[in-house]
Amino acid sequence: MLDTPIEYVKGIGPVRAEVLKSELGIYSASDLLTYYPFRYVDRTKFHFIKEITEDLPFVQLRGVIVSLEIVGVKNKKRLVVAFKDNTGIIELVWFKGYNYMAQKFKLETEYVVFGKPNAFGGRLNIPHPDVELYDPQNVLQLSSLQAVYNSGEKLKFKGLDSEGIRRTIKNCIEQLKEMHVPETLSTELLHDYKLVGAFTALKNIHTPSNNEQLQEASKRIKFEELFYIQLKLLRLNKNRNGNSIGFIFNRVGNYFNEFYFKHLPFQLTNAQKKVLKEIKQDMSAGKQMNRLVQGDVGSGKTMVALMSMLLALDNNFQTCLMAPTEILAQQHFETFTNAFSKLDINCALLTGSTRTKQRRELLEKLANGEIHILIGTHALIEDPVVFKNLGLVVIDEQHRFGVAQRAKLHKKNTQPPHMLIMTATPIPRTLAMTLYGDLDVSVIDELPPGRKPIKTLHFTESQRLRVFGFMKEQIELGRQVYVVFPLIQESEKMDYQNLQQGYDNMVLEFPPPYQISIVHGKLSNQEKEKEMQRFIGGQTQIMVATTVIEVGVNVPNASVMVIESAERFGLSQLHQLRGRVGRGAEQSFCILLTSSKIGADSRLRMKTMVDTNDGFEISEVDLQLRGPGDIEGTQQSGVLDLKLANLAKDGVLVQLAREAAQTILNEDENLELDKNKIYLDTLNLRNKNKPNWSRIG
Ligand code: ADP
Ligand code: MG
Repeated sequence: MLDTPIEYVKGIGPVRAEVLKSELGIYSASDLLTYYPFRYVDRTKFHFIKEITEDLPFVQLRGVIVSLEIVGVKNKKRLVVAFKDNTGIIELVWFKGYNYMAQKFKLETEYVVFGKPNAFGGRLNIPHPDVELYDPQNVLQLSSLQAVYNSGEKLKFKGLDSEGIRRTIKNCIEQLKEMHVPETLSTELLHDYKLVGAFTALKNIHTPSNNEQLQEASKRIKFEELFYIQLKLLRLNKNRNGNSIGFIFNRVGNYFNEFYFKHLPFQLTNAQKKVLKEIKQDMSAGKQMNRLVQGDVGSGKTMVALMSMLLALDNNFQTCLMAPTEILAQQHFETFTNAFSKLDINCALLTGSTRTKQRRELLEKLANGEIHILIGTHALIEDPVVFKNLGLVVIDEQHRFGVAQRAKLHKKNTQPPHMLIMTATPIPRTLAMTLYGDLDVSVIDELPPGRKPIKTLHFTESQRLRVFGFMKEQIELGRQVYVVFPLIQESEKMDYQNLQQGYDNMVLEFPPPYQISIVHGKLSNQEKEKEMQRFIGGQTQIMVATTVIEVGVNVPNASVMVIESAERFGLSQLHQLRGRVGRGAEQSFCILLTSSKIGADSRLRMKTMVDTNDGFEISEVDLQLRGPGDIEGTQQSGVLDLKLANLAKDGVLVQLAREAAQTILNEDENLELDKNKIYLDTLNLRNKNKPNWSRIG
């Protein structure tokens, strides 16, 4: 029954089947039934037009159409419908499909309208609402909760607006019997986690009679989705741990001890010590380490990496550190050479701009083992880069590197080296558990002592002069200032104009003796480097830049970060940028400049930045705002297969599902017991349908 091709499901037929396939990827009855509603409406409640404000989410209105008119010309053409109830009139607007809509509507007939109010030119309207005939009988038959489905113009055209989809699914469910829906969770699990059966869940997610039924159905379906992801990941993890033998670093020797006791410039924080200990344990256990270290900007990840790398040297292995940009690789190289100035360690830098002759020498020394530590950009991955005996790879700011690149590094020794991945983009725990289910995760949850929290302020364009005034004050005090402009690829040309104009304005506002650096992606590496050095050396007071400075750069004397058009940046980017200041002893500031009219999401982003410095808290809000699909790294993780579960909101269920999967695997690693056959079968079935699941840990 569930396998029935969609064209043979009652009420569909070949024409609708085509749009369902092309628009929604629905090929079978099962696909249709797992096309879940995205919301439910209490159809017994209506808003009055006079109560409507721009800030309301979706509203349901009941009234009549008093006029309708297609206005505007060419691509500005639109259908404007005046809709009236006893309390007022509001405009409904269509920019697409208006001819069809205009024909469909009748004047002076009662309709129910459902949509999101919007303010345009000082007036409220509702763009592209759902509109259906008001049918008192129908409303009486309905349960109070009616499912609403996402639709689209092409679907609507074939009668598959939300209402059409709802009717079709309802038909399908009415023919469905319990035996048609295979159970995918064991009786034991259903009992332990108080979950309803698969059939009940499917029925009630589409046609709940009350809120309780809906909640039960939704819990069951979400749990199942999360459970199978966890089961898959944990099994991968087990395989990895079981199969992949790792180099054994069991010696803490001279390099480490000498550095630790004589040259460490500060005391490690407890968090750094804890993570270092976890890494040590991993690397001496005989299995290949795959560890992700998460730590907020400025938490001191570099030192943890450096000391882990010394352990590799102590065990006669080479090690490398890969950074996402040249500037950052250069900076790491300097940090390392300074730290090792009194030690007998040979450290080299390899980037895209390393000269041929130098490169040849370097590669030779790398291959014969003279170079102990190689630092660089993705140039490290390339085939001619051959190590004598690579034991540990550190990847900084991991979000810039793909899984495939990680895999190439695995091949740099006969046996895969240990992997330490460091990311400064904290992600929520629930997401980490899913996304990095195959990695072990450490968290540096403490900043070095003496840091003053950065003060973040939000100003609008009209307050620009105050911001300039403040910059001058700070420069008087001997500090330096970053001014960052957004650079978004689609509109690159315009962005460079903005940047150039911003720079010109700065020059006017800050004439000599002020000196200004500028850095952006179109400069050659040499030019970039020169400008960076001028700023690092204190010859310039202001650095005008694009986000090329986003990652990792360390200039302790820079204490002000001004972010232009801050509304155009995502939260994690804003947080990264802010992390460029607050590295010295002085009070640091982050100033978010936006236009005075910004949307609700942007406002929430600014408020979040002003309210907290905690990267993890920020990542939670980010996940709520954007959903996991836009967070880097989610592509391979399977979280995008989630249809109902929401990682931002269902943290508790993620935890429960992981626990359940873990318990099962602890008892029966290979799912061989009779009672666990159900899981193996389901996994196999799903793997068959989705071949895209292999991934590299
Ligand atoms: P991130 O985690 O963002 O990569 P870094 O490793 O660049 O942070 O460290 C930020 C700054 O903090 C550096 O200047 C570093 O020398 C300093 N630092 C790191 N650990 C400590 C510590 N335990 N005590 C004092 N300063 C520290
Ligand atoms: Mg760093």
